[in-house]
Amino acid sequence: MGSAFPRLLSPLRVGSVTLRNRLVMGSMHTGLEDRDWHIDRLAAFFAERARGGVGLIVTGGYSPNREGWLSPFACAMITEADARRHRTITDAVHEAGAKIALQILHAGRDSEVPISVSPSAVPSPFSPFVPRELTEEGIQNTIADHARCAELAKLAGYDGIEVMGGEGFLINQFLAPRTNTRTDQWGGSTANRQRFAIEIVRQIRAAVGDNFLIMFRMSVAEFVEEGQTFDEIITLAKELQSAGVDVINTDIGWHESRVPTIATSVPRAAFVGYTARLKEHVTIPVCAANRINMPEVAEEILERGDADLIALARPLLADPEWVNKAAESRVDEINTCIACNQACLDHTFTGQTVSCLVNPRACHETLLQLLPTRSAKRVAVVGAGPAGLAAATGLAERGHHVELFEAEDRIGGQFDLARRIPGKEEFDESIRYFRSKLEITGVTVHLNTRVTAEQLAAGDWDEIVLATGVRPRTLDIPGIDHPMVLSYPQAVRKERPVGKRVAVIGAGGIGFDISELLTVEASPALNLEEWQAEWGVTDDDHALGQLTTRKPTPAVREVTLLQRKTGPFGTTLGKSTGWIHRAALNAKGVTQIGGVNYERIDDRGLHISFGENREGRRVIEVDNVIICAGQESVRDLEDQLETLGGRVHLIGGADEAKELDAKRAIDQGTRLAATL
Ligand code: FAD
Ligand code: NAP
Ligand code: SF4
Repeated sequence: MGSAFPRLLSPLRVGSVTLRNRLVMGSMHTGLEDRDWHIDRLAAFFAERARGGVGLIVTGGYSPNREGWLSPFACAMITEADARRHRTITDAVHEAGAKIALQILHAGRDSEVPISVSPSAVPSPFSPFVPRELTEEGIQNTIADHARCAELAKLAGYDGIEVMGGEGFLINQFLAPRTNTRTDQWGGSTANRQRFAIEIVRQIRAAVGDNFLIMFRMSVAEFVEEGQTFDEIITLAKELQSAGVDVINTDIGWHESRVPTIATSVPRAAFVGYTARLKEHVTIPVCAANRINMPEVAEEILERGDADLIALARPLLADPEWVNKAAESRVDEINTCIACNQACLDHTFTGQTVSCLVNPRACHETLLQLLPTRSAKRVAVVGAGPAGLAAATGLAERGHHVELFEAEDRIGGQFDLARRIPGKEEFDESIRYFRSKLEITGVTVHLNTRVTAEQLAAGDWDEIVLATGVRPRTLDIPGIDHPMVLSYPQAVRKERPVGKRVAVIGAGGIGFDISELLTVEASPALNLEEWQAEWGVTDDDHALGQLTTRKPTPAVREVTLLQRKTGPFGTTLGKSTGWIHRAALNAKGVTQIGGVNYERIDDRGLHISFGENREGRRVIEVDNVIICAGQESVRDLEDQLETLGGRVHLIGGADEAKELDAKRAIDQGTRLAATL
């Protein structure tokens, strides 16, 4: 039987290298690159993806010199000793049948070191240091360092290199008027600004010869003011091709862009249009990237001829076997990246090793393993939310006999609510994945079954896992029983109609989600044109940075979001996504009121006051009040099962409701499964 994804799985010759398929693992900085003693972990991480079938892997970005470090003592490829160490990686990947390229990344002004450099002394929002303007000699040396770095990569056994020319790093800083104010041969005209990138490629090609792959990661949409125009981007692509580039890998936006580029609310394959337009102007292969997370999306891109290759980065954190599963028509088994950024990008921004919310083994392959058990046990798992699902499937995968009890008529727990939030449609994929994994691993699932302590105690279980999760906190406000009051599950499930004027109590992640849900008719993530208008994105070839005026669809309700604390809203949201939620609510005109006391609820609406003296009393006249005031653990069963002692395990929200999220729930479930 033929494959469902013939184009995706067809080989391609790129430069001197033949790739076994069209899937490229895009560069991700995992944090493991920065310390030599993690090289074995890094090799295991790449090898697992190579065994999973990907054609070409691109490493995280290695600096060609110390000035280009992303952070102090970050990874670099500068000496022959560096190159020799990398043999562990290249050998492991080659043994598994894939190719691997080293990414060369000079951070320029984004470097967090005091010796940072840039074409001009324009400060970066990400570094406390103002970069030094490169001299003519400095520029020549930096170009030579790139060429030397590529030579060392060849010595290390890599099949090629990728030059990072996007995301606002050094090369991009030369390309854009925003960061290049020079008046010599390296600044001013388009040709002068492009000289640095082209010269780097020329010298790399001269240093490595013909039999070595050169990829160039270039910005095809800048999404910053005073970025390059699309006309300039096309000119650059043609020049790079002439200078010796074998593949153009596309890149979207700068780190400081105020257009979301990889969040879950970005429509799938949202930026492929830019890639397709660029491809019309070059003859070398072009690779599409960003928000491509399922094989059918990737296959469609190739079928339309919009690109020759598909870069998957986070989807391969989520599922190292993605390619093999696609090849074997096991798409239902793919653990899909939900683009939450919670364990990948947010970890990078907070100095933690990258992992994945839906796959806590990512970057921990040698540390967290679900090995076959030698003594199969009978295990009851109570609760089919993310924690219980991870535990049940992990335990069954190891060979235990697992029965899963869920009170509701479906699996998912609170995730079944999350998936109904506009822009969080991807969360549905996680539930689909777990459903398929329960079946494959042979877990016996009892839906509509609220188990009691007596049933569990009588069940003769070797182990009992309580993953009973959380329930919404009930508030003690006069009038809380008024018919206008809804809990957040009631609002999400649309159990009762919600009027045109709404107050939302509590501005945590769920308060923000509910406010977004109430202001839109349909999810902008499912409508590319609406999403582009919402964020002011244009495909006008002459627009600087591909930006235009934002035209958000008007809100369908008047929403007031409230919190008791003073200070800014949304401080507990994800590091890399919080600004998106804040911008989305601002665009919808959601009123935000902090420092409030909730006095009472009556037919007029929600009565509030301010400060310890309860001053400034007023009524917010609304049709409904939605309570999003956090949650409490559901652990009634634990007390009653005390006599069973060490056989009872608490995970997820049942263990601790404070600062609970699905990342912790899945991580705890998986870790417990690995140890029982
Ligand atoms: P739960 O999801 O609460 O699951 C517990 C399960 O146990 C439930 O299905 C319940 O019915 C069952 N149960 C309870 N008692 C019994 C019993 N006696 N017998 C049988 N079954 C029982 N998290 C993120 O990380 N990122 C997000 O973007 C995000 N967005 C969210 C958006 C919304 C609108 C909501 C509501 C939540 C969101 N979350 C998000 C939070 C995330 O869903 C929770 O942290 C996670 O679901 C907690 O998992 P859990 O398994 O511990 O508990
Ligand atoms: P939360 O983030 O803890 O927020 C609860 C909100 O309710 C706070 O704003 C709090 O602010 C308010 N509150 C707490 N106790 C209250 C009380 N007694 N009376 C009135 N208000 C009270 O919880 P959540 O929004 O329910 O989210 C639950 C978890 O899901 C979070 O930990 C989060 O990580 C996860 N989640 C994540 C995302 C995401 O995008 N990553 C999205 C949704 C949910 P004040 O005390 O100032 O009023
Ligand atoms: Fe994807 Fe979220 Fe995993 Fe990152 S943490 S790889 S965004 S699922």
